[in-house]
Amino acid sequence: MTLECRRCGACCIALSISTLDKPAGVRCPHLTEDNLCSLWGRPERPYVCSAFRPEPAFCGSSFEEALELMGELERSLQRETRADRKRRRETHGRG
Ligand code: SF4
Ligand code: SF4
Repeated sequence: MTLECRRCGACCIALSISTLDKPAGVRCPHLTEDNLCSLWGRPERPYVCSAFRPEPAFCGSSFEEALELMGELERSLQRETRADRKRRRETHGRG
């Protein structure tokens, strides 16, 4: 199910964007005051941003809810990354 973007800007704050070195929870420097992307249509715009589509599961029904849902998504991805690193270290340790 898709959702019409309400231009709340939460995704450009809550999510980390590695190509921009943007940590999670920090407002993207390319997000304008009226929550538009100043890189829109330009080649410098990260692919992950162009590919992102509003979804109820991420955007919820308000800016606050979107921050919370995407914050939780980021935290679970970070937990997975840490667990992967630990598994890799353990595997190499045995080899
Ligand atoms: S969080 Fe969702 S509704 Fe808000 S700007 Fe991003 S895509 Fe649009
Ligand atoms: S580059 Fe644009 S779409 Fe991507 S996080 Fe920044 S403001 Fe949002």
